[in-house]
Amino acid sequence: MRPAHQSRYRDARDAFLERLGDARMESFGHPLPGPDGPIGLHTAWWPGARTDRVLVISSGTHGVEGYCGSFVQCALLDEDFARRATEHFSVLMIHAVNPYGFAWQRRVNENNVDLNRNFVDFSQPLPASPAYDEVAAIVEPREWTPETPGLVMEALYRAAARHPDDPRWLQAALSSGQYSHPNGQFYGGPAPQWSNERMREITRRHLAGRHVIWVDVHTALGEYGTAECIVQMDPASRAFSVAEELWGSRLSNLHTGGSLSVAVAGAMVWTLAGSLEHEAVAAGLEYGTRELAEVIGALIEDQWLHRHGEADSEAFARVKRRMLDAFYPDDPAWRESILDIARSVTDVDASAAAFERLSSPD
Ligand SMILES: [Zn+2]
Repeated sequence: MRPAHQSRYRDARDAFLERLGDARMESFGHPLPGPDGPIGLHTAWWPGARTDRVLVISSGTHGVEGYCGSFVQCALLDEDFARRATEHFSVLMIHAVNPYGFAWQRRVNENNVDLNRNFVDFSQPLPASPAYDEVAAIVEPREWTPETPGLVMEALYRAAARHPDDPRWLQAALSSGQYSHPNGQFYGGPAPQWSNERMREITRRHLAGRHVIWVDVHTALGEYGTAECIVQMDPASRAFSVAEELWGSRLSNLHTGGSLSVAVAGAMVWTLAGSLEHEAVAAGLEYGTRELAEVIGALIEDQWLHRHGEADSEAFARVKRRMLDAFYPDDPAWRESILDIARSVTDVDASAAAFERLSSPD
């Protein structure tokens, strides 16, 4: 039996909490409610034979993507993952990094902030985004009619056609991160967010001074049912060669190109892993769902809904179904293939060997 397909935050959280066994659980209540009541971020800690080696699996950095991450966490726990892993190393699972987006089925948080663009140094001038500025007005329509999706996509393709030398101009323009359009897409925010502060606290408490391999589960980029382990690492570093051995051809490095993702500013796991004393291996495990145009269309409509729409409307229910389908398709065959990938990415023996190499003296 696999964990059931969940589409409500409360059910996904309960499914996770009821599988924790003897883990040390901690919860961080979010100041705002979800549609079904209180929401929060939960951590579960299983101390292993080596407490100085920690495998982290986190879900919901991008809210709605957390249904997939939560499924992966639950399915691994059902396969006795924590007990097998703790024979070698410790395990930290983080459920719903961005509980607000998770509960409201949004990719962003309560302030329309993309947490994976929020881990920049706010004491410094924030990155400019001239390419996003070109499309900002297109992706923030005031009205939504049956013609809007087609018109938005046409305008986006016209903008892209002005940059014929760069086939990924549009994806980069939209998703690299921007700090000047608070109602726009992939907005990095004006300051560290609630989840940012909680994650820094969790990192200090559980990961400081330890050797860390971190898998942050994401969705909606790439071929349906496949996945990339996306890292941003110096290709000459030891941690990168450990990651290569651990994840093989699934690995892609934003520092050297070849990833489905474009380079981004202020990503969470790479910033937090980079703050640790020892070289860590940290990846966004990115599962493919729907076509990129459908994912972008869903994000634009969801953003319109939260700015101009009404919560109790037929439109609300329809857009939320669209968001869930774009970020967590209800398809048993898809779930089976992403679980297979999760098993191989977090394989206990391969991870134990990776920790051995990460922590061996040069
Ligand atoms: Zn994501």
